[in-house]
Amino acid sequence: MIEVVDVSAQEGRTIEGALQKETDRQPAGAAGAHEGGTMTVSVYIPTPFRHLVGNRVHVQARGRTVRDVLADLDRQFPGFRQQLFGPEGKLATHINVYVNQVEIGTLQGEETPLREGDEVAVIPALAGGAVALTPEMVERYSRHIIMPQVGSAGQRKIMEAKVLIIGAGGLGSPVAIYLALAGVGTIGLVDFDVVDRSNLQRQILHQDDDVGRPKVVSAKETLLAYNPYVNVETHETPLTSDNAFDIIAPYDIVVNGADNFATRYLVNDACYLLKKPLVDGSILMFDGQATTYLPGRGCYRCLYPAPPPPGMVPSCAEAGVLGAMCATIGSIQATEVLKLILGIGEPLVNRLLLYDALALEFRIVRIRRDPNCPLCGDHPTITQLIDYEAFCGAPFPAAQHA
Ligand code: ZN
Repeated sequence: MIEVVDVSAQEGRTIEGALQKETDRQPAGAAGAHEGGTMTVSVYIPTPFRHLVGNRVHVQARGRTVRDVLADLDRQFPGFRQQLFGPEGKLATHINVYVNQVEIGTLQGEETPLREGDEVAVIPALAGGAVALTPEMVERYSRHIIMPQVGSAGQRKIMEAKVLIIGAGGLGSPVAIYLALAGVGTIGLVDFDVVDRSNLQRQILHQDDDVGRPKVVSAKETLLAYNPYVNVETHETPLTSDNAFDIIAPYDIVVNGADNFATRYLVNDACYLLKKPLVDGSILMFDGQATTYLPGRGCYRCLYPAPPPPGMVPSCAEAGVLGAMCATIGSIQATEVLKLILGIGEPLVNRLLLYDALALEFRIVRIRRDPNCPLCGDHPTITQLIDYEAFCGAPFPAAQHA
């Protein structure tokens, strides 16, 4: 249900290609070397380590031996050594170092002397062919990895997943933070609003200093401060019928944190037409709702065929919302996303979770695909995106998030 890209083939090609390049290259002759001096060598950096060196493929390092060069890399790029060496200061067994394509174990190990212009490659084993977990990542995600339902294979699925969140507001905040903490590889945020002081009572992506700044900018900073190993894509624009397909298409899963009906129907229709799972959530005053729509198993229109007349259901701005409710529903949405990525448990499909915070009661009602649904029914009449402002009888509100 989730398309997780297997990068093993690409990964292999990259490294083979790099090693092949070394084969083609003549080792530097003695004439060009400064015997006894400090040599400058080129170090090939494979993709799992590139984030440490500013995403460069090759970096220059200096030293007379492999040991010197590895120490120089750590000086230039703090944290580099930690990725290569075990706790006893020995090169980790899953790391091989090559000098001009020859593994240093067959030379003089870390004492292997280098000549000017040599090429050094630091190659980790790639478990399962997917993205490699560095020792730091293993530590960071250890409480997930130790669970058999996740494991290192599951953690790699999380790291390869792409999740789009509609709205960097009340629900989008906890969803985005928990997904970033979990290591979701790409987190997309759609929001065109700026942070307002009245947002700070519940929108935990933003802080007092962020008032007046674009929400996606503030959100990205917060998420990267929590976890620098995730990629945050910002879409600072209202979601419309014109751009919804382009924005949503690259993602595996969509999370809805919109607070107006026009955007809710738009996201629902676009996700169904693009066959994307949609994890829906909404809050108002002391009530919350959450459900997951999988393409072909019901949609928002099956549940609510038509929006309420404009003005009938108030917005959070009009009626208020208890801030802590955002965490309850947003956390359920983040949990649903992680379950979908991992393919574990029972998703909240064909079930609508209702949360009454004042009574402190959760209840689940059954919902099902409506064969007469104009979108996902047996004889659909909606086969492309429509004019949602006209459909809802109201313009898109200035803010699209709870
Ligand atoms: Zn439907």
